[in-house]
Amino acid sequence: MHYSFGIIKPDAMQKKYYGKILDDIASAGYKLIGLKLFQLTEEKAKNFYAKHEHQPFFAELIAYMCLTPVLCFVVQKEDAINDFRQLAGNTDPKLAEKNTLRHKYGQDITANAIHASDSAESFDREWRFFFTENELFFQND
Ligand code: GDP
Repeated sequence: MHYSFGIIKPDAMQKKYYGKILDDIASAGYKLIGLKLFQLTEEKAKNFYAKHEHQPFFAELIAYMCLTPVLCFVVQKEDAINDFRQLAGNTDPKLAEKNTLRHKYGQDITANAIHASDSAESFDREWRFFFTENELFFQND
């Protein structure tokens, strides 16, 4: 799988880290093939995170994701799913390794700066929440 989907989440949007995060992603060798600002509604956020619906943190997660518009993107790179998960880092920024995006830009386990698809199946489901095919610009190398 050579693509991954990500979201710059509300805490990082509020702190204006979007430029730094996109720069780190480009420096790590990714090509940006889709980018969009999007305001999640409660309904859409619940649908996106449906697999967590029975978790105790679900309500907090949904409220947080709707706080501000988020920046959604699709990136291209070899082995993008695994590689981008590593760049994102541990879900909890306090446990994330030093040069990961969550360590650098995250606040806590809810406000952790970035979403990164965790599998090819998730990627396939997630990008379609925010983009149509003609909004992605696949690169040839
Ligand atoms: P991810 O794939 O690393 O984003 O982690 P998950 O898919 O397990 O969780 C989705 C999102 O829910 C995370 O990115 C966090 O924003 C939030 N989250 C996950 N686990 C917890 C938790 O234990 N407590 C709280 N408050 N939020 C959590």
